[in-house]
Amino acid sequence: MKICVIGTGYVGLVVGTCLSEMGNNVICVDNNLQKIEQLKDGIIPIYEPGLEELVKSNVSENRLIFTTDIKYAVENSLICYIAVGTPQKEDGSADLSSVYKVAEDIGRYINNYKVIVDKSTVPIGTAEKLTELIKSKTKYEFDVISNPEFLKQGAAVEDFLKPDRIIIGSNSSKATEIMQELYAPFLRTGNPIITMDVKSAEMTKYASNSFLALKVSFANEIANICEQIGADAEMVRKGMCADKRIGAQFLFAGLGYGGSCFPKDIQALIKTAKDNNCNYDILQAADNVNRNQRQLFINKIINKYENNLKDKTFGIWGLSFKPKTSDMREAPSITIINELLKLDAKIQCYDPKAMDNAKKIFKNRIQYSQNAYEAIKDADALLLLTEWNEFRRPDFEKVKLLLKQPIIFDGRNQYNSKKLIELGFEYYSIGKNPNKKETKN
Ligand code: NAD
Repeated sequence: MKICVIGTGYVGLVVGTCLSEMGNNVICVDNNLQKIEQLKDGIIPIYEPGLEELVKSNVSENRLIFTTDIKYAVENSLICYIAVGTPQKEDGSADLSSVYKVAEDIGRYINNYKVIVDKSTVPIGTAEKLTELIKSKTKYEFDVISNPEFLKQGAAVEDFLKPDRIIIGSNSSKATEIMQELYAPFLRTGNPIITMDVKSAEMTKYASNSFLALKVSFANEIANICEQIGADAEMVRKGMCADKRIGAQFLFAGLGYGGSCFPKDIQALIKTAKDNNCNYDILQAADNVNRNQRQLFINKIINKYENNLKDKTFGIWGLSFKPKTSDMREAPSITIINELLKLDAKIQCYDPKAMDNAKKIFKNRIQYSQNAYEAIKDADALLLLTEWNEFRRPDFEKVKLLLKQPIIFDGRNQYNSKKLIELGFEYYSIGKNPNKKETKN
């Protein structure tokens, strides 16, 4: 099938590449010329496991091309995906200006029947508005459908190629059939394609992300209570997760969720609830707990140094909002580093893939290291902020030698507190207080 994907970001590039991998002809469009030039030169602007190989092989097979020419892309496609960003506005709602701009362009350039697929996460009712907007620009027939995306950054290719489910919100059987045919190769394991009305599909995305965010915040609230009462949140998690009704995912205590989706999507759903006079207590609570979680971690550091961080140096491992991505949007590291800088601390940092993004954010306010060990050299403490695999089993003897003081603040509960305390570390994690408990025994 002939497809264009408009918006070649974290979602659009993965969607376009994976659709071309299944034999479709895909045109990826972006209005960021530099990004398109890079892609044409074989440079992948984001890190996503497995993506680079797939882009290169599909480009070499002439199934995947990159352009800034949206007219050419629309004219030569049956299916037009909208995959541009929908960032949060000040009032919490989603900024749809890029979505509307693309819809207008599509309307202007339609030359025969098109299925217009909304992949961006958009408020309920947006597909209807897009239909009106495009109708005002063209006399050609088209359908707008909602096809929310559930991929996880860090496993995006795998998730897109083998989705748990595909949601199609459509009021047109013609468009639904085209989409069913397109996605059939992705569902060979028997996972479902669920068709529904457009509004329900739009809501499914917000409800899913908000529920996952809620699980994270629930785990963090329980962990904070554990820490105060002397229980071990990690053992509590294991005990809870053995119950199939609860499940094992998204219940790890830590610094809370970040990224470009959960924080903004929960805000957008709160705004929708407010606008429709609905209650949103649970959504608000999830958001509040998440914000507080970062501050609690900062407080641990401040308390340890009795409110005086002047000239203290912190070696930071991990900057991206989660492992296996270069993305730093809404990363806890940003809040934590900014707070520490405000208190006159010095920062040395290392991340396997997010250093370029970090430089754009922090500029020369912090020091960038070549590797993990360099980042902690002569630091007063190590702060683990993102649980990349390479930080999971460090040489702790070396860590101890490099640090000025053997102190670790572990924002992701990665290390064995007993072992670290035996090795002579002072160890702070989330959801238990090993220093207090272990030294008593
Ligand atoms: P992104 O910012 O990485 O990518 C958006 C791209 O669209 C950018 O490259 C930008 O240059 C381009 N763009 C903006 N306006 C354009 C225009 N008028 N014409 C052409 N290109 C334009 O965003 P993303 O993370 O890929 O997210 C895209 C959408 O998918 C959002 O609505 C997001 O909520 C949703 N989503 C994201 C994820 C995720 O994990 N990132 C997962 C599921 C859904």
